Amino acid sequence: MTHWLSIVVATPAHSKVAGALTYASEWPLTPGTLVRVPLGKREVLGVVWEVLPGSGDLPPAQARAVLGALGGLAPLPSTWRRLVGFTATYYQRSIGEVALAALPPQLRELSTVQLARRLKRPVATPPDTPDTTDLIALSPDQERAIAEFDADTRPALLFGTTGSGKTEVYLRAAAKVLADDPSAQVLVMVPEINLTPQLQARFEERFAHLGKAQVVALHSGLTPAQRLKSWLAAHAGQARLVLGTRMAIFASLPNLRLIVVDEEHDPSYKQQEGARYSARDLAVYRAMLESAAKDEHARGQFSDGPPLGKLAPPGGSAVREATSVGAISCRVLLGSATPSLESWQATVVGRYQRLTMSERIGGAEQQGSLPAIRLVDMNHQPKHSTIAPPLLEAISQRIARGEQSLIFLNRRGYAPVLACHDCGWKSECPHCSAYRVFHKIDCTLRCHHCGFTERVPRACPSCGNIDISPVGKGTERLEEHITELLAGVRGSDGEPLRIARIDADTTRLKGALEAQLASVHAGEVDVLVGTQMIAKGHDFRHITLVAAINPDAALFSSDFRAPERLFGLLMQAAGRAGRDAAHGETSEMWVQTFHPQHPLFAALKKHDYPAFAAQELKEREAAGMSPFGFSALVRAEAREQAVAQGFLNAAAEAAQSQQLPGHEAVTPYPAVPMTIQRVANIERAQMLVESPSRAALQRFLAAWQPVLHQTRQQGEFKSLIRWAIDVDPLAI
Ligand code: ADP
Ligand code: ZN
Ligand code: ZN
Repeated sequence: MTHWLSIVVATPAHSKVAGALTYASEWPLTPGTLVRVPLGKREVLGVVWEVLPGSGDLPPAQARAVLGALGGLAPLPSTWRRLVGFTATYYQRSIGEVALAALPPQLRELSTVQLARRLKRPVATPPDTPDTTDLIALSPDQERAIAEFDADTRPALLFGTTGSGKTEVYLRAAAKVLADDPSAQVLVMVPEINLTPQLQARFEERFAHLGKAQVVALHSGLTPAQRLKSWLAAHAGQARLVLGTRMAIFASLPNLRLIVVDEEHDPSYKQQEGARYSARDLAVYRAMLESAAKDEHARGQFSDGPPLGKLAPPGGSAVREATSVGAISCRVLLGSATPSLESWQATVVGRYQRLTMSERIGGAEQQGSLPAIRLVDMNHQPKHSTIAPPLLEAISQRIARGEQSLIFLNRRGYAPVLACHDCGWKSECPHCSAYRVFHKIDCTLRCHHCGFTERVPRACPSCGNIDISPVGKGTERLEEHITELLAGVRGSDGEPLRIARIDADTTRLKGALEAQLASVHAGEVDVLVGTQMIAKGHDFRHITLVAAINPDAALFSSDFRAPERLFGLLMQAAGRAGRDAAHGETSEMWVQTFHPQHPLFAALKKHDYPAFAAQELKEREAAGMSPFGFSALVRAEAREQAVAQGFLNAAAEAAQSQQLPGHEAVTPYPAVPMTIQRVANIERAQMLVESPSRAALQRFLAAWQPVLHQTRQQGEFKSLIRWAIDVDPLAI
């Protein structure tokens, strides 16, 4: 007997075979089964999506046969398929693309025999270590946060000051879930930057009593073999706790009971290519799905079919419905000291639960308090000073006391531009609409967009003037400058000063970042210079001064999220100072600005995130921006800017003239060049599409996809290189 199956395979984003394909099988196969199928002349991995009643439009004789199922692997759970289906629909991609990208790449390559070998169960390490969870006395804030979390069912946002001990709350929440149910699984997500071996070690240590193989990592730093191993352990239910970056949101976890998203505001949760999903939003959605599925299971209504398009988007009404359903069996816990305004607003309206921890560990009496904020009005400082004299004085005092200072500037390299003051030549990149950055250390001009690198010319390439000079400052020059300013100053021990720099340039080699961080921790550095890379997450104990050299640009950026990011970054950076209670009282955060009256700084001075959020949300509400309005960007790339823009405008006109569903509530803006208009000789344009209704925007985008495809087929746009939709874009 022939069984008809709809099977999804990896299809290029915009190919004609975007949906599932129909195959025939001699054996019955359940949805979620991994199979090998022929596609064109190739043999590819696919996932059985649905069992079909017949061959549909396809004449049975033309149907190709499934070559075989991946033996030994349980089918992917139905919630996994729902999550993938939702992601594809919501982010306007094909199911096959999302499904196959969510699986470890090695699954595609292994033969059945090889796979069988991998599937041999590892010898389970006996649970011999005692559970040490209860040995640490919780702070009053932690006690309260955990009790409140346990008493609620909504998605929770842990709003905890840096140093308030959020990690301990995650550990406790996870421990409880794992102890209550011997098959339960927990997913802990961290942003790229924070997936340090230390954090993994901390989880492994805490859950050692479960047996070592039960804590696994899933991130892009793993080898393909390690990644497959972690994935298989999670899929088989052996791994109880999965620690990972955004990709881990698609891990197959048959018994998922808790998802933790640390630093939930971090932009690295948004995927920037392919399906541009937000792993944070999907975490909220997945918890809702898992709960709903378990609830349906309990009531005997479990449906195995794909619910495509039937479910509301992240944070939408479906979350509300699920929370009122009764027994919730998968929770989500987001955490941050500076939450995204989207998550914060959800707590304001009560859709999410808010857990607040405002005291740093150590308590107010021991002065584990936050550093004082000092704003330096640069209008009143000597012209062209990079480091204002009072800041320099404060750094010198730290050095004399044997304390560390951290100085950050968001621009790497020596100088952003090299210029000739005779003829006006500047170090433009020939391939991009951007300047090449001067890197003094290896005497190169490097484009940070396309990578084009050349040696610095001896003389101006345009007029021959040999006096070409750097304009502006990057971290490399800042380091040099500080070294000059502090020449002659000695460390508290009488030894020469130790100034170090950490940025993308100094940490290129594997292990370099770890080594440099270790030397900061060991107190081998007096002054640390770097980009925002050093402002986040690290638990530096001896830093008592943090300084932001030039943060003003973000105050007036055309990107409406720039102030939110700046505030978060400055709060994070401030959190680096005075983490050691002994230094709490003397620690300071310095901000050099030409706009000390800006309300953002007023809130910063008081460490008052809620005040900042309230003011920023008021402005966003008035402007109809996220989270009060919804948007998508369509980006197009071509050799000529006119083609990229013309394509977008033509597609928008077609949408209006065809009165697409949702169009009455959707505003497409005219296409514009992207901020960096040309990269590697490719012209880039974008179109913003806005709507006060998420549902209307979704309806519109779904109907617009085929119109965009058709528009591209028109002769004048044939030369378009690519286009893509970004739903809920982070930067505009
Ligand atoms: P956050 O993530 O909120 O910035 P961490 O989780 O890094 O804070 O905690 C800050 C420091 O406090 C860490 O060194 C951590 O080990 C310590 N800590 C957390 N909770 C406790 C506790 N209950 N008792 C003692 N130390 C704690
Ligand atoms: Zn010149
Ligand atoms: Zn370039």
